[in-house]
Amino acid sequence: MKVDRKLRMGMVGGGPGAFIGEVHRKAASMDGLIEVVGGAFDIDPEKSFQMRDELHVDPARVYGSYAEMIEKETALPESERMDFITICTPNNWHFPIARDVLKAGFHVMCEKPMTINVDEARELGDLVRSTGKIFGLMHNYTGYPMVKLARDIARGGELGKVRKIVVRYPQGWLATALELTGHIQASWRADPEQSGASGCGGDIGTHAENLAEYITGLKMTHLCAELTTFVEGRRLDDDINCLVKYDNGASGVLHASQISIGEENNLGIWIYGETGALEWHQEHPNYLYVKRPDEPVQVWRRGNDYVAEKSPAAGRATRLPAGHPEAFIEAFANNYVNFSDTVRASMEGIEPDLLALDFPDVEDGLRGMLFLKTLVESAGSSEKWTEIHI
Ligand code: NAD
Repeated sequence: MKVDRKLRMGMVGGGPGAFIGEVHRKAASMDGLIEVVGGAFDIDPEKSFQMRDELHVDPARVYGSYAEMIEKETALPESERMDFITICTPNNWHFPIARDVLKAGFHVMCEKPMTINVDEARELGDLVRSTGKIFGLMHNYTGYPMVKLARDIARGGELGKVRKIVVRYPQGWLATALELTGHIQASWRADPEQSGASGCGGDIGTHAENLAEYITGLKMTHLCAELTTFVEGRRLDDDINCLVKYDNGASGVLHASQISIGEENNLGIWIYGETGALEWHQEHPNYLYVKRPDEPVQVWRRGNDYVAEKSPAAGRATRLPAGHPEAFIEAFANNYVNFSDTVRASMEGIEPDLLALDFPDVEDGLRGMLFLKTLVESAGSSEKWTEIHI
């Protein structure tokens, strides 16, 4: 039956003072396809209830815990119940919440990293397959139109065989012990119980890993990593240098850092093939640089018809004409458009548009956890290469 209404989104996390929950709420509602109807917004029930006024949702649907949310929402008639749940909590909560909401019959959109270990990631994969529910993972950098164009160029073979991938994600915001000052976001990120085995890796290294695999379609097979903790007393790494081997024989470098003073979110990627190369920067996301031997560098600019002609996925992910910048929130929104179209198709019992299937999922989440596990193993090993065991 046609689902001729906005999808109803519930949220776990994103309470007062939280960072990414608000970005999700703005992004999800951007295209008129989704409305936030309630949630369990904070680990502290009182703070969750504070969101009633801020969000103008039915106060009865702002819950004190995610367990209460599941219980009360499943008791509602299907015509009122939340259709999917977005999880924006610290990393250690992703798995138990995703597991419980999937078992209760909801679709899920989850923040990265998907879990805090590989076993949890595998269990979630099994659960997604057995429930048949749709699972989206918010690797938001895949949502940029020019990243989709890069993917279509690279995977379309226009660079020839890919030889080398350089991907970097330097930040500088953790160059001091911010976690000791009561800073909300820094506190849990520096705690292995809440963050996972690699601090910098879980927070931004997985974004770099996912971006390289998304654009090229290649899989990392071996890592040679150095993890460093520069800030005295910090319990997790804050800097990563890593060599990478890919499954087509390509080699690469992945560098991520939270102590690189002056850097904000300087994610960038360079892909070098036998006949051409690509370059893209997150802080200037509307441009993709395409390079050929003995030719001037081409600058492909978002919003022009030539982009949509080359990459229908990039065209679909574009809202504004060329020259009016689109950026971070729109990239999240693009993942929500594809995810929600897929959820809607599932609810209607039909096949989704192929372009709608273009969002990171539980398999990408497992790849991320395998990457992190191998990163930590490699950093502690005297062998040059550590294999990513699937
Ligand atoms: P944050 O500390 O700002 O917010 C976390 C929120 O979750 C808080 O409101 C907290 O009270 C709430 N919370 C914690 N446990 C909860 C529970 N059991 N039930 C209900 N609410 C709970 O953290 P953040 O920076 O917004 O990060 C949240 C997640 O988003 C992390 O997994 C992080 O890795 C991810 N993240 C992703 C991106 C991205 O670009 N995709 C950017 C930032 C953060």
